[in-house]
Amino acid sequence: MNIEELLQFDRDHLWHPYTSTINPLPVFPVEKAEGVVITLSDGTELIDGMSSWWAAVHGYNHPVLNAAAKAQMDKMSHIMFGGLTHRPAVEFAQKLMPFLPPSMDKIFYADSGSVAVEVAMKMAIQYWQSLGKAGKHAFATIRSGYHGDTWHAMSVCDPVTGMHGIFAGSLPVQYFLLQPPVKFGEPWREDVMRPLEDLLQKEGKSIAALILEPIVQGAGGMYFYSPTYLVRARELCARYGVLLVFDEIATGFGRTGKFFAWEHAGVEPDIMCIGKAMTAGYMTLSATITTQPIADTICSGEAGCFMHGPTFMGNPLALAIASASLSLLLESDWQSNVRRIEKQLREELAPAASLQSVAEVRVLGAIGVLEMKEPVNMANLQQLFVKEGIWVRPFGRLVYLMPPFVITCEQLTKLTTGLLHVLEAEERGKLVR
Ligand code: PMP
Repeated sequence: MNIEELLQFDRDHLWHPYTSTINPLPVFPVEKAEGVVITLSDGTELIDGMSSWWAAVHGYNHPVLNAAAKAQMDKMSHIMFGGLTHRPAVEFAQKLMPFLPPSMDKIFYADSGSVAVEVAMKMAIQYWQSLGKAGKHAFATIRSGYHGDTWHAMSVCDPVTGMHGIFAGSLPVQYFLLQPPVKFGEPWREDVMRPLEDLLQKEGKSIAALILEPIVQGAGGMYFYSPTYLVRARELCARYGVLLVFDEIATGFGRTGKFFAWEHAGVEPDIMCIGKAMTAGYMTLSATITTQPIADTICSGEAGCFMHGPTFMGNPLALAIASASLSLLLESDWQSNVRRIEKQLREELAPAASLQSVAEVRVLGAIGVLEMKEPVNMANLQQLFVKEGIWVRPFGRLVYLMPPFVITCEQLTKLTTGLLHVLEAEERGKLVR
Protein backbone atom coordinates (compact mmCIF):
# COMPACT_ATOMS: atom_id res chain seq x y z
CA MET A 1 0.00 0.00 0.00
CA ASN A 2 1.51 3.34 -0.96
CA ILE A 3 0.81 6.47 1.07
CA GLU A 4 -1.98 7.64 -1.22
CA GLU A 5 -3.74 4.27 -0.89
CA LEU A 6 -3.20 4.31 2.86
CA LEU A 7 -4.74 7.76 3.19
CA GLN A 8 -7.63 6.75 0.95
CA PHE A 9 -8.33 3.67 3.08
CA ASP A 10 -8.12 5.83 6.18
CA ARG A 11 -10.62 8.30 4.69
CA ASP A 12 -12.93 5.47 3.66
CA HIS A 13 -12.89 3.37 6.80
CA LEU A 14 -11.31 5.02 9.83
CA TRP A 15 -13.01 7.42 12.14
CA HIS A 16 -10.69 9.89 13.89
CA PRO A 17 -11.42 11.65 17.21
CA TYR A 18 -14.19 14.22 17.00
CA THR A 19 -14.34 14.19 13.18
CA SER A 20 -17.01 13.89 10.54
CA THR A 21 -17.19 11.00 8.09
CA ILE A 22 -19.01 13.27 5.64
CA ASN A 23 -16.45 16.01 5.70
CA PRO A 24 -13.29 14.41 7.12
CA LEU A 25 -10.48 16.76 8.07
CA PRO A 26 -7.07 15.98 6.57
CA VAL A 27 -4.82 13.67 8.57
CA PHE A 28 -1.04 13.50 8.24
CA PRO A 29 0.60 10.07 7.92
CA VAL A 30 3.33 9.60 10.54
CA GLU A 31 6.27 7.35 9.71
CA LYS A 32 8.05 7.53 13.04
CA ALA A 33 8.62 9.70 16.07
CA GLU A 34 11.88 10.04 17.94
CA GLY A 35 12.61 12.35 20.88
CA VAL A 36 10.62 15.49 20.18
CA VAL A 37 10.53 15.06 16.39
CA ILE A 38 7.59 13.54 14.51
CA THR A 39 8.51 12.43 10.97
CA LEU A 40 5.77 12.29 8.36
CA SER A 41 5.88 9.75 5.54
CA ASP A 42 7.13 12.37 3.05
CA GLY A 43 10.09 13.07 5.35
CA THR A 44 8.67 16.31 6.83
CA GLU A 45 9.90 16.75 10.39
CA LEU A 46 7.67 18.36 13.00
CA ILE A 47 8.64 19.55 16.49
CA ASP A 48 6.02 18.11 18.82
CA GLY A 49 4.12 20.71 20.82
CA MET A 50 1.42 18.37 22.14
CA SER A 51 3.13 15.40 23.85
CA SER A 52 0.30 13.41 22.23
CA TRP A 53 -2.26 15.08 24.51
CA TRP A 54 -0.21 15.47 27.74
CA ALA A 55 1.22 11.95 27.62
CA ALA A 56 4.67 11.69 25.98
CA VAL A 57 6.66 13.55 28.64
CA HIS A 58 9.95 11.81 27.73
CA GLY A 59 9.48 12.23 23.97
CA TYR A 60 9.03 9.29 21.59
CA ASN A 61 10.86 6.04 21.03
CA HIS A 62 12.80 6.30 24.28
CA PRO A 63 15.44 3.56 24.60
CA VAL A 64 14.80 3.00 28.33
CA LEU A 65 11.04 2.65 27.85
CA ASN A 66 11.52 0.47 24.77
CA ALA A 67 13.82 -1.81 26.77
CA ALA A 68 11.31 -2.02 29.63
CA ALA A 69 8.53 -2.96 27.19
CA LYS A 70 10.65 -5.60 25.46
CA ALA A 71 11.83 -7.13 28.74
CA GLN A 72 8.26 -7.37 30.04
CA MET A 73 6.99 -8.82 26.76
CA ASP A 74 9.47 -11.65 27.12
CA LYS A 75 7.88 -12.49 30.48
CA MET A 76 4.19 -11.81 29.85
CA SER A 77 2.30 -9.02 28.14
CA HIS A 78 -0.89 -9.63 30.01
CA ILE A 79 -2.26 -11.69 32.81
CA MET A 80 -5.61 -11.29 34.53
CA PHE A 81 -5.53 -9.27 37.76
CA GLY A 82 -8.34 -11.22 39.39
CA GLY A 83 -6.66 -13.58 41.85
CA LEU A 84 -3.17 -12.88 40.49
CA THR A 85 -0.62 -10.13 40.99
CA HIS A 86 2.80 -9.31 39.55
CA ARG A 87 5.95 -7.31 40.00
CA PRO A 88 5.13 -4.39 37.61
CA ALA A 89 1.83 -3.69 39.44
CA VAL A 90 3.51 -3.65 42.84
CA GLU A 91 6.71 -1.88 41.81
CA PHE A 92 4.92 0.99 40.09
CA ALA A 93 2.65 1.51 43.10
CA GLN A 94 5.61 1.47 45.45
CA LYS A 95 7.41 4.15 43.43
CA LEU A 96 4.26 6.27 43.13
CA MET A 97 3.19 6.28 46.80
CA PRO A 98 5.67 8.96 48.00
CA PHE A 99 4.08 11.43 45.55
CA LEU A 100 0.49 10.78 46.50
CA PRO A 101 -1.26 12.84 49.14
CA PRO A 102 -0.22 11.12 52.42
CA SER A 103 -3.74 9.88 53.15
CA MET A 104 -4.03 8.04 49.81
CA ASP A 105 -3.07 4.42 49.98
CA LYS A 106 -5.40 2.25 47.90
CA ILE A 107 -4.65 2.15 44.19
CA PHE A 108 -7.18 0.79 41.70
CA TYR A 109 -5.73 0.37 38.19
CA ALA A 110 -8.01 1.25 35.27
CA ASP A 111 -7.87 1.38 31.49
CA SER A 112 -7.99 5.04 30.46
CA GLY A 113 -8.61 8.46 31.94
CA SER A 114 -12.34 8.33 31.31
CA VAL A 115 -12.60 4.96 32.98
CA ALA A 116 -10.61 6.21 35.98
CA VAL A 117 -13.21 8.98 36.34
CA GLU A 118 -16.07 6.46 36.05
CA VAL A 119 -14.34 4.39 38.74
CA ALA A 120 -13.99 7.45 41.00
CA MET A 121 -17.69 8.22 40.60
CA LYS A 122 -18.64 4.62 41.33
CA MET A 123 -16.43 4.66 44.42
CA ALA A 124 -18.19 7.80 45.68
CA ILE A 125 -21.64 6.28 45.14
CA GLN A 126 -20.72 2.97 46.75
CA TYR A 127 -19.13 4.78 49.70
CA TRP A 128 -22.33 6.63 50.56
CA GLN A 129 -24.45 3.52 49.94
CA SER A 130 -22.31 1.61 52.43
CA LEU A 131 -22.97 4.36 54.97
CA GLY A 132 -26.72 4.01 54.37
CA LYS A 133 -26.97 7.29 52.42
CA ALA A 134 -28.14 5.98 49.06
CA GLY A 135 -29.73 9.36 48.24
CA LYS A 136 -26.30 10.85 47.62
CA HIS A 137 -25.96 10.13 43.91
CA ALA A 138 -25.42 13.50 42.22
CA PHE A 139 -22.10 15.19 41.49
CA ALA A 140 -21.00 18.81 41.61
CA THR A 141 -18.31 20.37 39.48
CA ILE A 142 -17.20 23.66 37.95
CA ARG A 143 -17.82 25.02 34.47
CA SER A 144 -15.23 24.55 31.71
CA GLY A 145 -14.14 21.22 33.10
CA TYR A 146 -13.35 18.10 31.12
CA HIS A 147 -13.29 14.61 32.60
CA GLY A 148 -13.62 12.20 29.69
CA ASP A 149 -15.85 10.80 26.97
CA THR A 150 -17.67 7.98 28.76
CA TRP A 151 -21.20 8.41 30.07
CA HIS A 152 -20.87 9.63 33.63
CA ALA A 153 -17.53 11.32 32.95
CA MET A 154 -19.35 13.29 30.22
CA SER A 155 -22.03 14.36 32.68
CA VAL A 156 -19.44 16.35 34.66
CA CYS A 157 -17.80 17.94 31.59
CA ASP A 158 -18.80 21.51 30.83
CA PRO A 159 -22.08 21.26 28.92
CA VAL A 160 -20.78 23.68 26.26
CA THR A 161 -16.97 23.63 26.10
CA GLY A 162 -16.77 20.03 27.30
CA MET A 163 -17.80 18.88 23.82
CA HIS A 164 -20.78 16.84 24.99
CA GLY A 165 -23.60 19.39 25.07
CA ILE A 166 -25.28 17.34 22.35
CA PHE A 167 -26.08 14.60 24.87
CA ALA A 168 -27.88 16.94 27.28
CA GLY A 169 -31.23 15.38 28.01
CA SER A 170 -29.85 11.84 28.10
CA LEU A 171 -27.03 12.41 30.55
CA PRO A 172 -27.48 12.45 34.32
CA VAL A 173 -27.99 16.05 35.39
CA GLN A 174 -25.25 17.30 37.69
CA TYR A 175 -24.64 20.56 39.54
CA PHE A 176 -22.39 23.09 37.79
CA LEU A 177 -20.78 26.05 39.52
CA LEU A 178 -19.11 28.98 37.82
CA GLN A 179 -15.45 28.54 37.01
CA PRO A 180 -13.39 29.99 39.91
CA PRO A 181 -12.96 33.61 38.85
CA VAL A 182 -9.66 34.08 40.71
CA LYS A 183 -6.90 33.07 38.33
CA PHE A 184 -3.67 31.36 39.37
CA GLY A 185 -1.40 34.01 40.91
CA GLU A 186 -4.17 36.57 41.52
CA PRO A 187 -5.04 37.75 45.05
CA TRP A 188 -7.72 35.59 46.68
CA ARG A 189 -11.28 36.80 47.37
CA GLU A 190 -13.43 34.92 49.89
CA ASP A 191 -16.71 35.77 48.13
CA VAL A 192 -15.69 33.33 45.39
CA MET A 193 -16.76 30.39 47.56
CA ARG A 194 -20.31 31.57 48.16
CA PRO A 195 -21.89 29.59 45.26
CA LEU A 196 -20.24 26.34 46.38
CA GLU A 197 -21.25 26.90 49.98
CA ASP A 198 -24.83 27.70 48.96
CA LEU A 199 -25.01 24.59 46.79
CA LEU A 200 -23.61 22.26 49.43
CA GLN A 201 -25.82 23.75 52.09
CA LYS A 202 -28.94 23.32 49.95
CA GLU A 203 -28.24 20.13 48.04
CA GLY A 204 -25.42 18.45 50.00
CA LYS A 205 -27.74 15.61 51.02
CA SER A 206 -28.02 14.49 47.39
CA ILE A 207 -24.39 15.16 46.36
CA ALA A 208 -21.90 12.29 46.50
CA ALA A 209 -18.81 14.25 45.48
CA LEU A 210 -17.36 17.44 44.08
CA ILE A 211 -15.06 16.63 41.16
CA LEU A 212 -12.39 19.10 40.05
CA GLU A 213 -9.32 19.26 37.86
CA PRO A 214 -7.01 20.86 40.42
CA ILE A 215 -5.47 24.22 39.34
CA VAL A 216 -5.46 23.52 35.59
CA GLN A 217 -8.63 22.86 33.64
CA GLY A 218 -7.55 21.05 30.48
CA ALA A 219 -9.62 20.25 27.41
CA GLY A 220 -12.61 22.26 28.66
CA GLY A 221 -10.84 25.60 28.69
CA MET A 222 -7.10 25.46 29.47
CA TYR A 223 -7.70 27.75 32.45
CA PHE A 224 -5.49 28.12 35.55
CA TYR A 225 -7.18 29.04 38.85
CA SER A 226 -6.18 29.88 42.40
CA PRO A 227 -4.98 27.05 44.68
CA THR A 228 -6.94 28.69 47.50
CA TYR A 229 -10.13 27.51 45.78
CA LEU A 230 -9.03 23.96 46.53
CA VAL A 231 -8.27 24.78 50.17
CA ARG A 232 -11.73 26.27 50.66
CA ALA A 233 -13.45 23.52 48.64
CA ARG A 234 -11.78 20.95 50.90
CA GLU A 235 -13.10 22.73 54.00
CA LEU A 236 -16.62 23.00 52.59
CA CYS A 237 -16.75 19.37 51.41
CA ALA A 238 -15.69 18.23 54.88
CA ARG A 239 -18.29 20.48 56.53
CA TYR A 240 -21.19 19.34 54.35
CA GLY A 241 -20.30 15.65 54.03
CA VAL A 242 -19.39 15.58 50.34
CA LEU A 243 -16.38 13.71 48.96
CA LEU A 244 -13.72 15.63 47.03
CA VAL A 245 -12.35 14.05 43.85
CA PHE A 246 -9.28 15.44 42.07
CA ASP A 247 -8.92 14.53 38.42
CA GLU A 248 -5.13 14.72 37.96
CA ILE A 249 -5.21 12.89 34.64
CA ALA A 250 -3.83 15.88 32.74
CA THR A 251 -1.98 17.64 35.57
CA GLY A 252 -0.08 14.62 36.91
CA PHE A 253 3.58 13.69 36.50
CA GLY A 254 5.08 17.18 36.61
CA ARG A 255 3.17 19.08 33.92
CA THR A 256 2.20 22.04 36.17
CA GLY A 257 5.63 22.31 37.83
CA LYS A 258 4.64 20.14 40.82
CA PHE A 259 4.59 16.36 40.62
CA PHE A 260 0.82 16.46 41.15
CA ALA A 261 -1.27 19.63 41.15
CA TRP A 262 -2.67 19.01 44.66
CA GLU A 263 0.74 20.07 45.94
CA HIS A 264 0.12 23.69 44.81
CA ALA A 265 -2.52 23.90 47.53
CA GLY A 266 -1.36 21.16 49.92
CA VAL A 267 -4.92 19.85 49.76
CA GLU A 268 -5.68 16.15 49.96
CA PRO A 269 -8.70 14.89 48.06
CA ASP A 270 -10.68 11.80 49.06
CA ILE A 271 -10.30 10.20 45.64
CA MET A 272 -7.80 10.99 42.91
CA CYS A 273 -7.54 9.95 39.23
CA ILE A 274 -4.30 9.69 37.25
CA GLY A 275 -3.57 8.62 33.66
CA LYS A 276 -2.12 10.14 30.48
CA ALA A 277 1.64 10.59 31.27
CA MET A 278 1.54 7.51 33.52
CA THR A 279 3.06 5.37 30.73
CA ALA A 280 4.69 8.38 28.99
CA GLY A 281 2.31 7.85 26.09
CA TYR A 282 3.29 4.23 25.39
CA MET A 283 0.07 2.49 26.41
CA THR A 284 -3.31 3.31 27.83
CA LEU A 285 -3.37 3.03 31.62
CA SER A 286 -4.84 4.96 34.51
CA ALA A 287 -5.58 4.61 38.19
CA THR A 288 -8.10 5.77 40.75
CA ILE A 289 -6.67 6.18 44.22
CA THR A 290 -8.33 6.61 47.59
CA THR A 291 -7.81 6.33 51.31
CA GLN A 292 -7.97 3.18 53.40
CA PRO A 293 -11.07 4.36 55.36
CA ILE A 294 -12.99 5.10 52.12
CA ALA A 295 -11.94 1.80 50.56
CA ASP A 296 -12.86 -0.11 53.70
CA THR A 297 -16.22 1.66 53.97
CA ILE A 298 -16.99 0.73 50.34
CA CYS A 299 -16.12 -2.89 51.06
CA SER A 300 -18.16 -3.00 54.25
CA GLY A 301 -21.37 -2.36 52.29
CA GLU A 302 -23.93 -4.69 50.78
CA ALA A 303 -21.69 -5.76 47.85
CA GLY A 304 -18.76 -6.58 50.13
CA CYS A 305 -16.29 -5.31 47.55
CA PHE A 306 -15.78 -2.55 45.03
CA MET A 307 -17.90 -3.44 42.00
CA HIS A 308 -15.46 -2.95 39.16
CA GLY A 309 -12.89 -5.20 37.47
CA PRO A 310 -12.16 -4.82 33.76
CA THR A 311 -10.40 -7.46 31.64
CA PHE A 312 -7.20 -5.50 31.17
CA MET A 313 -6.94 -4.20 34.73
CA GLY A 314 -3.36 -4.01 35.96
CA ASN A 315 -1.92 -4.86 32.55
CA PRO A 316 1.73 -5.83 33.26
CA LEU A 317 3.12 -4.49 29.99
CA ALA A 318 1.63 -1.04 30.61
CA LEU A 319 2.71 -1.11 34.25
CA ALA A 320 6.29 -2.16 33.44
CA ILE A 321 6.51 0.84 31.13
CA ALA A 322 4.84 3.08 33.74
CA SER A 323 7.37 1.95 36.29
CA ALA A 324 10.32 2.62 33.96
CA SER A 325 8.82 5.98 33.01
CA LEU A 326 8.44 7.02 36.62
CA SER A 327 12.06 6.10 37.37
CA LEU A 328 13.17 8.01 34.29
CA LEU A 329 11.23 11.07 35.43
CA LEU A 330 12.66 10.90 38.94
CA GLU A 331 16.22 10.41 37.68
CA SER A 332 15.85 13.32 35.26
CA ASP A 333 15.91 16.88 36.49
CA TRP A 334 12.24 17.25 35.52
CA GLN A 335 11.60 20.22 37.83
CA SER A 336 14.38 22.25 36.20
CA ASN A 337 13.18 21.18 32.78
CA VAL A 338 9.61 22.26 33.48
CA ARG A 339 10.85 25.55 35.01
CA ARG A 340 13.04 26.17 31.97
CA ILE A 341 10.13 25.46 29.60
CA GLU A 342 7.83 27.69 31.67
CA LYS A 343 10.28 30.62 31.56
CA GLN A 344 10.86 30.24 27.86
CA LEU A 345 7.14 29.92 27.08
CA ARG A 346 6.46 33.07 29.11
CA GLU A 347 9.12 35.04 27.25
CA GLU A 348 8.49 33.74 23.77
CA LEU A 349 4.68 33.67 23.82
CA ALA A 350 4.39 37.16 25.42
CA PRO A 351 4.46 38.99 22.04
CA ALA A 352 1.28 37.12 21.07
CA ALA A 353 -0.63 39.31 23.54
CA SER A 354 -0.32 42.21 21.09
CA LEU A 355 -2.08 40.28 18.30
CA GLN A 356 -5.62 41.47 17.74
CA SER A 357 -6.96 37.94 17.51
CA VAL A 358 -5.50 36.92 20.90
CA ALA A 359 -7.60 37.47 24.03
CA GLU A 360 -5.07 36.21 26.59
CA VAL A 361 -1.70 34.52 26.89
CA ARG A 362 -1.20 32.27 29.93
CA VAL A 363 1.59 29.97 30.99
CA LEU A 364 1.92 27.54 33.89
CA GLY A 365 4.57 24.84 34.15
CA ALA A 366 5.09 23.25 30.74
CA ILE A 367 1.75 24.55 29.42
CA GLY A 368 1.45 27.63 27.22
CA VAL A 369 -1.98 28.81 26.11
CA LEU A 370 -3.15 31.45 23.67
CA GLU A 371 -6.84 32.06 24.13
CA MET A 372 -8.17 33.56 20.90
CA LYS A 373 -11.11 35.93 20.64
CA GLU A 374 -12.86 33.71 18.06
CA PRO A 375 -12.87 29.95 17.47
CA VAL A 376 -10.03 29.00 15.12
CA ASN A 377 -10.27 27.08 11.86
CA MET A 378 -8.45 24.01 13.11
CA ALA A 379 -7.92 22.29 9.75
CA ASN A 380 -6.53 25.42 8.17
CA LEU A 381 -4.23 26.28 11.08
CA GLN A 382 -3.01 22.71 11.32
CA GLN A 383 -1.86 22.76 7.66
CA LEU A 384 -0.02 26.02 8.28
CA PHE A 385 1.64 24.70 11.45
CA VAL A 386 2.85 21.62 9.54
CA LYS A 387 4.33 23.90 6.88
CA GLU A 388 6.21 25.65 9.71
CA GLY A 389 7.58 22.29 10.88
CA ILE A 390 5.62 22.17 14.15
CA TRP A 391 2.87 19.92 15.50
CA VAL A 392 0.19 21.94 17.28
CA ARG A 393 -3.49 20.99 17.39
CA PRO A 394 -5.76 23.84 18.46
CA PHE A 395 -9.40 23.47 19.39
CA GLY A 396 -12.20 25.98 19.85
CA ARG A 397 -10.63 29.28 20.88
CA LEU A 398 -7.51 27.64 22.27
CA VAL A 399 -4.11 27.35 20.66
CA TYR A 400 -1.75 25.74 23.14
CA LEU A 401 1.62 24.09 23.64
CA MET A 402 2.50 21.32 26.06
CA PRO A 403 5.77 19.90 24.76
CA PRO A 404 7.63 16.84 26.06
CA PHE A 405 9.87 17.81 29.00
CA VAL A 406 12.97 16.78 27.04
CA ILE A 407 12.50 19.50 24.42
CA THR A 408 15.65 21.61 23.94
CA CYS A 409 15.65 25.42 24.07
CA GLU A 410 16.23 25.56 20.30
CA GLN A 411 13.36 23.17 19.57
CA LEU A 412 11.06 25.13 21.85
CA THR A 413 11.99 28.38 20.12
CA LYS A 414 11.14 26.76 16.79
CA LEU A 415 7.77 25.82 18.23
CA THR A 416 6.93 29.26 19.64
CA THR A 417 8.21 31.23 16.64
CA GLY A 418 6.39 28.88 14.24
CA LEU A 419 3.20 29.38 16.21
CA LEU A 420 3.53 33.16 16.20
CA HIS A 421 4.44 33.27 12.49
CA VAL A 422 1.28 31.42 11.59
CA LEU A 423 -0.99 33.51 13.80
CA GLU A 424 0.58 36.79 12.60
CA ALA A 425 0.24 35.72 8.97
CA GLU A 426 -3.39 34.72 9.54
CA GLU A 427 -4.10 38.06 11.15
CA ARG A 428 -2.41 39.98 8.30
CA GLY A 429 -4.39 37.90 5.79
CA LYS A 430 -7.65 38.70 7.55
CA LEU A 431 -6.84 42.42 7.63
CA VAL A 432 -6.06 42.39 3.90
CA ARG A 433 -9.16 40.32 2.98
N1 PMP B 1 -9.74 13.87 32.70
C1 PMP B 1 -8.98 14.85 32.19
C2 PMP B 1 -8.62 16.01 33.09
C3 PMP B 1 -8.52 14.81 30.88
O1 PMP B 1 -7.77 15.80 30.40
C4 PMP B 1 -8.87 13.69 30.08
C5 PMP B 1 -8.42 13.57 28.63
N2 PMP B 1 -8.24 14.73 27.94
C6 PMP B 1 -9.65 12.68 30.63
C7 PMP B 1 -10.07 12.79 31.94
C8 PMP B 1 -10.04 11.46 29.83
O2 PMP B 1 -8.94 10.67 29.61
P1 PMP B 1 -8.91 9.61 28.40
O3 PMP B 1 -8.92 10.42 27.15
O4 PMP B 1 -7.64 8.84 28.62
O5 PMP B 1 -10.12 8.76 28.55
